[in-house]
Amino acid sequence: MEKVSILEASRRLNLSQANIRQYIRDGELQATREPGPSGRLAWVVELPGEGWMDDTKSSLHQLQETFEAYTSGVTFSHWWWPTGDRSGHAHYVEDLGIEETIPRFLCGLISDNIWVASELSEDEYCPECIAAVEAALTSAELVDRFRAFRKKNRQEEG
Ligand SMILES: [Zn+2]
Repeated sequence: MEKVSILEASRRLNLSQANIRQYIRDGELQATREPGPSGRLAWVVELPGEGWMDDTKSSLHQLQETFEAYTSGVTFSHWWWPTGDRSGHAHYVEDLGIEETIPRFLCGLISDNIWVASELSEDEYCPECIAAVEAALTSAELVDRFRAFRKKNRQEEG
């Protein structure tokens, strides 16, 4: 089992350092504090085996967390436009990761860049992304909250 710093784990797993720390707190990544070259204790992460990122539990767990933060207004929207002219549908970006990441939308679409989406009306959300988000939400109450959130945005616009 390879052991690396949080920074290196962030690069190798293509996750933010905050995400790595969250996975450590959740016990989904194994980490210990070990003395570094300077003698100071630093976190050392055990790199998980291949396929760890595909683990359904991890990705659904993360989606759930980002959704909670999103509807509570804690974080920026995860909905982005795939084109600069903001036509068609806005899609859900599962994890922006570190800067080099190619944006990957929940429905599988990949684009070169993303453009910020604000004040979306309900029909501007990608139906496939909505279906994927709703499928990942673990209770009817959360799905209702997500629907109310989309409607609320539209009403504020009009
Ligand atoms: Zn989509």
